Amino acid sequence: MAIRTRFLRVTLIISAACGSIWSQGSEWKVNPEWVRAHEMFLASDAMRGRGSATADEWIAATYVASEFQKYGLKPGLPDRAYIQRAELVQPVVEGTAQISAPESSGFTALEEGRDFSLLRTDGENVSGRLQKINAEDAAREQVQAGAVIMLAGDLGKQAGSFIRRAYSAGATAILREDQSLSSDALKRNLDQRRPINPHLPDLDQSLGSKLSIVAVTKAASDRLGKLGDGTVISLQIHTKNTPRYTYNSVGVLQGKDPSASARVILLSAHLDHLGVGEPVNGDSIYNGANDDASGTVAVLELAHALASGPKPQRSIYFVCYGSEEFGGLGSTYFREHPPVPLDRIAANVEFEMIGNQDPKMPKGKLLFTGWDRSNLGPILLEHGAQLGDDPYPEQHFFERSDNYSLALKGVVAHTAGGWGTPPTYHKPDDDIAHLDFDFMTQAIQSLVEPMRWLANSNFVPQWLPGRKPLGRE
Ligand SMILES: [Zn+2]
Repeated sequence: MAIRTRFLRVTLIISAACGSIWSQGSEWKVNPEWVRAHEMFLASDAMRGRGSATADEWIAATYVASEFQKYGLKPGLPDRAYIQRAELVQPVVEGTAQISAPESSGFTALEEGRDFSLLRTDGENVSGRLQKINAEDAAREQVQAGAVIMLAGDLGKQAGSFIRRAYSAGATAILREDQSLSSDALKRNLDQRRPINPHLPDLDQSLGSKLSIVAVTKAASDRLGKLGDGTVISLQIHTKNTPRYTYNSVGVLQGKDPSASARVILLSAHLDHLGVGEPVNGDSIYNGANDDASGTVAVLELAHALASGPKPQRSIYFVCYGSEEFGGLGSTYFREHPPVPLDRIAANVEFEMIGNQDPKMPKGKLLFTGWDRSNLGPILLEHGAQLGDDPYPEQHFFERSDNYSLALKGVVAHTAGGWGTPPTYHKPDDDIAHLDFDFMTQAIQSLVEPMRWLANSNFVPQWLPGRKPLGRE
């Protein structure tokens, strides 16, 4: 994206944003210039894509906290702070990894950089019983829990769905034959290993997958193919742990009922994105204007609206998480260190990617993930929220954002989103130029009164029978 004209436009927009805050009636009016001004900061190239657990993420969290304070929210954390810092652990691979079988099998260990490349690992050593699957039979084969799968042949476009299936079935690792793996490519992959995503120490319940994925050469695949099914295969990786930090911004609008038993409402989004990465058409900044600066803006402008009106009955927590893109780490940390006990959170709505209208949804409507899991979506609809059922059940969106971290602990928590996966999804093109500001402003506007109603009511949403999430599904 071009940077040059930005400064002038930011100045103009900020001055425009200082106009009147109320429209002629008494109803709160979300000003599109406020929405745009937040985006101009959060999704600017200067923020370098707000990479998860980076200094850029910290700046984004500081901006959000500062806006919370401006709107009159109180610090949401017990130590009177707006920012919650979580320590993460990042394993860094040292040396080369090996794949081995018991000595009795006569198998000579495979060496990373010579026989295979690590495509995906969480840095842990893994082992499991060998299950050999040919690409042509992959659709029919039942994946065994705990298996190390040797996938021979080329799955082509079916690879993604097979990997998801193997993950759901609880496979430990997939050793995938890649006939194009030259010695040059092996060496390059070794020198440019993708960093392993960090995780929360002592906590194994984030959204991240434990499945390791390895590409093996044709020769290595043939050697593995000679081993009997059920042979124990081990992948050994040597790692050193380095600390990293992620940041959540937490503000609270105090309700009239401050008693220790009073329920609260949680409105959330994630402020991180993918940072600086692989360039596409010369652009290496993954701005995340939609994912999820747009949700962050929704949280900010709902805070602005609700804090400017009469004090609500119940307190409302406004939270923007870090490190969602590493598997919901910020929200998982928040869940483990909440400012109020989780059973006092009556409802959580997360806002994700509200920057574009979904082509499958009626005009102006947001999709609400897990619609038929609880009675929250339908009651918000009754109170005027422009929400509807998620038309992409196969995408499992309910399990793919921060709401899930809380839902796993029983909090009735859903995500309201715009276009499920727009063409700009996780690309450098997810920038301000691709946002539909009219849709976005209208989406936030449509939520103000329903959220005000929720905070003023005694309504406690419930999971529908058998629909409470239980974990890996
Ligand atoms: Zn997101």
